[in-house]
Amino acid sequence: MTDYVIRATGGEGQVRAFIATTTEMVEESRRLHSTSKVATAALGRTLTATSIMGLMMKNQGDKVTVIIKGGGPIGTILATSNVKGTVKGYVEKPNVEVPNYENGKLNVAAAVGNDGVVKVIKDLGLREPYNGAYPLVSGEIAEDFTHYFALSEQTPSIVALGVLTTPIELDNNGEEIAEDEEYEIDLSKFKVEHAGGLIVQLMPDATEETICQLEKNVSQLTSVTNMMKEGKTPEDILNIVLEGLNPKILDKANVGFECECSHEKGKEVLVSIGKHELAAVVEEDKKAEIGCQFCNSKYTYTEEELLEMLKEM
Ligand code: ZN
Repeated sequence: MTDYVIRATGGEGQVRAFIATTTEMVEESRRLHSTSKVATAALGRTLTATSIMGLMMKNQGDKVTVIIKGGGPIGTILATSNVKGTVKGYVEKPNVEVPNYENGKLNVAAAVGNDGVVKVIKDLGLREPYNGAYPLVSGEIAEDFTHYFALSEQTPSIVALGVLTTPIELDNNGEEIAEDEEYEIDLSKFKVEHAGGLIVQLMPDATEETICQLEKNVSQLTSVTNMMKEGKTPEDILNIVLEGLNPKILDKANVGFECECSHEKGKEVLVSIGKHELAAVVEEDKKAEIGCQFCNSKYTYTEEELLEMLKEM
C-alpha cells in the first residue's frame, strides 16, 4: 500500500495538518465501481477527506460516514472510514457524465449539485451516534468540507482535494499496452494518475501572526495534484503549507480502500431477513444472491447452504 496520510502540527500546536496521498485508494474505487471521470473525481475527493476524518477520531472502533446529497445527476455519494483511515464508498450513479468546465477541468459541482446536504455520522461507540447535516455550498466537495468544519466544529480549516486521471491504452484483450508498443489511444479508458488532499486547521489559540503566515503560504499553493505531478510528497507539501511555522510530523498512517464483506458475512444478512422470509426465498428461487454496494462483490448461496442456515435459525 503506497497511500498514506501524515499528521503534523505547526506554530507550536496552533495549527494541525493532515496531508494525504490517495492515488491507489481512488484508483481502486474507480476499478471496483467503473466510475466515469467526473464520478471518479467526486468519489475520490470524498474518500480522501473521509479517510482523514477517520484519522481525526480517537478510539479503536470509531467510524465516520459522510453522505453527500447535492441534488445533481450523480445522486448520493457515501464514504465511510475507520480510525485507521481505511475507507470504502460508492456513488449512486457511477457512470454519470457532465460537460467539463471551459478550461477542460472536470465539473464535479455539475455532477454533484449544490442544493442539498453534507451529512456526517460519527459512530463513537456511544448509544446514539453523532449525526449532523449541513447545507452543501458548492458541490466541488473541498469547499463543502471547509464549510462543514466551520459550522460543526467551529474550526477554521483549509481543505484541498484533487483527483487527476490519465488515459490508458489497452490492447484487444483488455491488457494494458507497454510503453514502446504502437497503439491508438482510446480516451474513454483512463486510470487515476494522482489523488490526494490536505486539511489544515487553526486551533483556538492561533495568533494573528500565525494566521497571516498560513494565509501567505496558502496563497502560493498550486493544486494538490499539480504538486504531486511535480513529484512532491506529502512531506514536501507540508513544508510548503507550514513554511515558517516549524512543522513537526507526528505520525504517518497507511490508508487505502478496503471492504470487509465476505461470503460468511452475507449469511448474516440472509439470517436477518427472518426464518419465514428466508424459507420463502428457498422455496421460490432455490438460491440467493447478496451484493455489496461498497465494492460490487456478489455472493451466491446454494439451496443446500440456505437449508443448512434455516436449520440453524
Ligand atoms: Zn464489499
